[in-house]
Amino acid sequence: MTGATLTVDLAAIEANYRLLKDRSPTARCAALVKANAYGVGVERVAPALRDAGCRVFFVATVDEAIALRGIIGAEPEIFVLDGLPVEAGDAFEAHRLTPVLNDLGQIGRWTERARTAGRALPAVIHFDTGMSRLGLPEDETRRLMDCPAMIEGLNVAYLMSHLVSAENPDSPLNGRQLEAFSAIRAGFPDIAASLANSSGVFLGPRYHFDLVRPGVALYGANPRPGRPNPMREVVRLRARIVQVRRIDAHRTVGYGATHRFAAPATIATLPLGYADGYLRSLSGRGFCYLGGFRVPVVGRVSMDLVTLDVSSAPPELVFPGAEVDVIGGPVPIDDLAEAGGTIAYELLTALGARYRREYVSGDIDE
Ligand SMILES: *Cc1c(COP(=O)(O)O)cnc(C)c1O
Repeated sequence: MTGATLTVDLAAIEANYRLLKDRSPTARCAALVKANAYGVGVERVAPALRDAGCRVFFVATVDEAIALRGIIGAEPEIFVLDGLPVEAGDAFEAHRLTPVLNDLGQIGRWTERARTAGRALPAVIHFDTGMSRLGLPEDETRRLMDCPAMIEGLNVAYLMSHLVSAENPDSPLNGRQLEAFSAIRAGFPDIAASLANSSGVFLGPRYHFDLVRPGVALYGANPRPGRPNPMREVVRLRARIVQVRRIDAHRTVGYGATHRFAAPATIATLPLGYADGYLRSLSGRGFCYLGGFRVPVVGRVSMDLVTLDVSSAPPELVFPGAEVDVIGGPVPIDDLAEAGGTIAYELLTALGARYRREYVSGDIDE
């Protein structure tokens, strides 16, 4: 077997979906499958989620939505977060996609189209309560609340907003956004509402409204940083050592000679690098496990290779072809992300195209 193997546990994704759903008993549970299902592989992930009972999917772009419609069939709802591009109206109707309308201009265009078509068109309306990114800003929100007739002709499935700091339950922003969103919602009492992402699910029932929108927790990342991870592990990356070198004291390893050994050392080289999403920021900071021994990344991560200091592992474990845990198992993805100064979202969405990918249902073999 060559190189590196990425194993994705679809049963774990389904279990994670059910856990999030059980945590939000009064709401429906959507699944966020933007960016190729967070890098995990939407073609396999979306059908698994559908099998677990998911009927509402969010993607970022129209192109992702069209691809997803081909994967999951006609029935599930597909909501497109990036809104309604001027030229995309036909595609939305042809593939039965629902735009998340992010400003009054988009609302105007969609209602105009509904009028021309002579029938109600589906929509989600996104209000900005603090992210300052997408969604109706405050002044547009006020105008819409003063004149709800602006959305006549639309079949509004949900009012939504997005939490800024849900992963930090102590942040006062959570309560402030909840209050702002509740006030907006009170203006449209007949329309369902959605606020919570993965971490928002764990902020409690007041945040759940009628639909929760988890993404990263489905893929095994911890929605409650600093506390035990309630999610099941989904992604496991293992690689085989390609070369072992024993080097003398005072030698350096890798580009820039950033790491110099004080004592003789054993280095193992793995066949993956930043081109595979093993981020360069893990240089000198990342770690792997070899047969139960923690082995640190030493020197710079290069495009196709990573070097590990395996001096602490018993020599009989260190040989070309020996398997190393890179992500998952003893290397929780959240911990590795933290070591690299990033978050699990970025490690997941960067997962490389060169890995051999295996999709399994049931525990990833140890
Ligand atoms: C990506 C996204 C989510 C999911 O967030 P997670 O933190 O991955 O659960 C929910 N809502 C919106 C608007 C998003 O863009």
